[in-house]
Amino acid sequence: MAAAQGRKVHFWPHDGAFAPITPYVLCTWKADPRFYAEYPTPRAVFSLGAGVDHLHPLRGRTDFPVYRVIDPDLTARMAEYVTFAALFLHRQIPLYLQHQKQRIWDPPDQDAASSVRVGILGTGVMGEAAGRALQMIGYQVSGWARSARQNSPFPVHAGKEALPRFLAEIDILVNLLPRTPETTGLVNADVFAILGTQRTGKKFFINAGRGETVAQKDLIAALQSGVLNGAVLDVFSPEPLPADNPLWGMDNVLITPHVAADSNPATIVPQILRHVGELERGAIPLPTVDLARGY
Ligand code: NAP
Repeated sequence: MAAAQGRKVHFWPHDGAFAPITPYVLCTWKADPRFYAEYPTPRAVFSLGAGVDHLHPLRGRTDFPVYRVIDPDLTARMAEYVTFAALFLHRQIPLYLQHQKQRIWDPPDQDAASSVRVGILGTGVMGEAAGRALQMIGYQVSGWARSARQNSPFPVHAGKEALPRFLAEIDILVNLLPRTPETTGLVNADVFAILGTQRTGKKFFINAGRGETVAQKDLIAALQSGVLNGAVLDVFSPEPLPADNPLWGMDNVLITPHVAADSNPATIVPQILRHVGELERGAIPLPTVDLARGY
């Protein structure tokens, strides 16, 4: 509250009921449809996280702008997570964990990072930062997005037609796509089959975007059949991942409970206050969420 710099802050809902106040701005993580149905239009809506799929029920509303958080702390956490996951898989840590349990000393061959090709689905704020971090370690990085890039630190393939060629050149696929109608189920058996076909090495998958963008049955089948050699997974559909899901029991899978990049109130609150100040001065805060597009 001290950080609010004299502005009044209200919390919804109180004891399950909404307070009868129209906010100037609304900061939201999981949007409660009751709020938008019952209250007049706020000046702006701020999503408290990088992901904005929780706002999809508002698609079609054009009476208020929606802004998202871009927080260097959040972005750095994602870059850390993806770098960790790539190293975990490429440096064969699951094998060492198994060997340690059995007290086996058996050093395998190791590929240099410079010979490993990492592909990032979704080269937005998170994807670009993760790609830069991976490049610093020496990985060959490329990306895939909806639109072409002018000044990307690594090559980015754009659009659906470019997807198969992008995938064929990848050893480790990183998914950082938002959940939208277009991306739902996009990472499926076809994607896993094409992956890395231009080389006979190992194929790995990292998912820190959204669970819904992956066909989970296809992922499980690919891991069971050896089409994929391993995975690091942070996001699922549904969450929490049910206890009877076969992914829990797989030696070649590391599961983390949606913690790749947690929002930190200490860094996000000042940013939102800065944006509220911009609104008050008549300036438009960036970046905007396109509800029709879904991110
Ligand atoms: P962003 O800046 O909005 O970037 C999204 C990227 O996805 C853009 O490069 C966009 O392409 C691409 N994209 C969207 N739809 C596409 C499509 N149909 N085909 C190809 N590319 C498409 O989002 P961000 O900040 O990087 O975050 C990405 C996602 O990470 C979030 O939406 C959220 O789901 C997830 N996330 C997870 C955690 C966690 O803890 N696990 C934390 C934060 C965020 P263009 O550049 O061409 O528009």
